[in-house]
Amino acid sequence: MSAPILPSAITDLSDTLSRLPGIGPKLAARLAVYLAVKGVRTRDELIAGLGDVAESIQVCSQCANLSESPLCAICLDEGRDRSSVLVVETVLDLYQIEKAAIYKGLYLVLGGLISPVNGVGVADLNIDLLWDMLAKYECKEVIIGFNNNVEGDATAMYISGQVGERFPGIKTSRLARGLGAGISLEYIDPSSLQGAFQNRSSVSN
Ligand SMILES: [Zn+2]
Repeated sequence: MSAPILPSAITDLSDTLSRLPGIGPKLAARLAVYLAVKGVRTRDELIAGLGDVAESIQVCSQCANLSESPLCAICLDEGRDRSSVLVVETVLDLYQIEKAAIYKGLYLVLGGLISPVNGVGVADLNIDLLWDMLAKYECKEVIIGFNNNVEGDATAMYISGQVGERFPGIKTSRLARGLGAGISLEYIDPSSLQGAFQNRSSVSN
């Protein structure tokens, strides 16, 4: 039997890296080899960074944002408008909207979208946190900030229906569709995002 071409520590690292979003097996192998020899400083920083993240980062118990305390900085901020909750798919969407500094309400990070094809159902999402929030604060509006795709539409429809049943006084709206289909919220520039807020439309429920 011939000896393996790469040491097993490299192939193991490569396998792990290939499970990261957007990294295929070829790039994973390239990164593993780089980190083994050339990228020693980056490797050491990665080791330290991963340790810090594992130790200090938790999920906000109210909105599922990332946080260094049980409640995130947004939920703790008394200056935030508690009459609206913006539901986004991921923490990255939340950061994108915060960066644009155009929304001053609360958030709910859903952690995914309903997708029967991918085996994601309501039970896999942080939807119960939304009902807790709406019951706790005197909310007037739930704003849906999903991307315009099949999963985004299905999840928006589910949420607006449930809000209508559970909290009849709360209206549901959705960020404007002028953003174009298939464009991820993550990559939208601040002025387009502002337009999407201003032109958000009511969702009947
Ligand atoms: Zn929070």
